[in-house]
Amino acid sequence: MELSVIVPIYNEEESIHALHVKISAALAAAGIDYELILVDDGSSDRSFLLLKAIAAEDARVKVIRFRRNFGQTAAMAAGFDAACGRVVVPMDGDLQNDPADIPRLLAKIDEGYDVVSGWRKDRQDTFINRKLPSMIANGLISRFTGVHLHDYGCTLKAYRREVLEGINLYGEMHRFVPALASQVGAKVTELPVQHHPRLYGTSKYGISRTVRVVLDLMTVKFLLSYSTKPIQLFGKWGVYTLLAGSVSGLTTIYMKIFEHFSMNRNPLWILTIFLLFMGIQFIVLGLLGELNARTYYEAQGKPIYVVREKINFRDSGLGTGD
Ligand code: UDP
Ligand code: MG
Repeated sequence: MELSVIVPIYNEEESIHALHVKISAALAAAGIDYELILVDDGSSDRSFLLLKAIAAEDARVKVIRFRRNFGQTAAMAAGFDAACGRVVVPMDGDLQNDPADIPRLLAKIDEGYDVVSGWRKDRQDTFINRKLPSMIANGLISRFTGVHLHDYGCTLKAYRREVLEGINLYGEMHRFVPALASQVGAKVTELPVQHHPRLYGTSKYGISRTVRVVLDLMTVKFLLSYSTKPIQLFGKWGVYTLLAGSVSGLTTIYMKIFEHFSMNRNPLWILTIFLLFMGIQFIVLGLLGELNARTYYEAQGKPIYVVREKINFRDSGLGTGD
């Protein structure tokens, strides 16, 4: 199969019919062999009944129903796990993304890219609580992950299915997939896509998402840069603080001996103790991290590298490090 389209659905009853019609029209016109995986993320309205009805009459539609609301990331992950297509394209279920863009995303994949990220160049959302936080978030994510994209938040993206296979999603992590994929060597690009205002229902997110995205960014940055070597991060700061503590301590002693400045009245002495404690804490944290890293990689048989190909090995093949 050529394509799997994944749509997370949470209380989108007014949009579902039009969504199915638009996706079918866009993909049938382009002659693409596809499946449409609709994931009902614990909707409390009639969404599931409508999805069921659509699946009954269209064999290309598959439906997954969650027991409760697990969030958009989980819904997308369930779709990714079930997908059979060579290319996987997630999109929103509220008609804000346009399925007519999918053939263009596929064409870009065929140019040799592994990930094509949609970019809502002309985004139809309010400025102050949606576009502005998003601009800041995109800047931060691009900077910290080194993968420069204008619009991490756009759900409409295209992935070669194999790049998704090694990626596990937690929290609000779906937006970081391009960065995580790039980490395992995927070629990432972006493509401007259309964006429509929300016609039905309401957005499931408010401004509080900004905080969650920032926290997830910290996690992703840590995973990308230090998950196999936590002591390099914590140990470095440990050494710096120990050095600063020593300088401060020696200064206190110098002042005591040569300037007769009482040690217990010298604030530098408190700073010394504080910095030395912090330094030791950082180093111990790094060592605990190292222990955890070993448990994480070894218990799951996870390799710390990704092989593109092997030559002249009897079991040569693609994939991870065997
Ligand atoms: N969604 C979901 N589970 C949730 C929240 C949202 O499956 O807990 C779906 C929602 O139905 C929609 C997509 O994720 O298809 C994007 O949500 P929304 O349109 O509310 O986000 P926005 O476009 O406002 O960023
Ligand atoms: Mg939306």
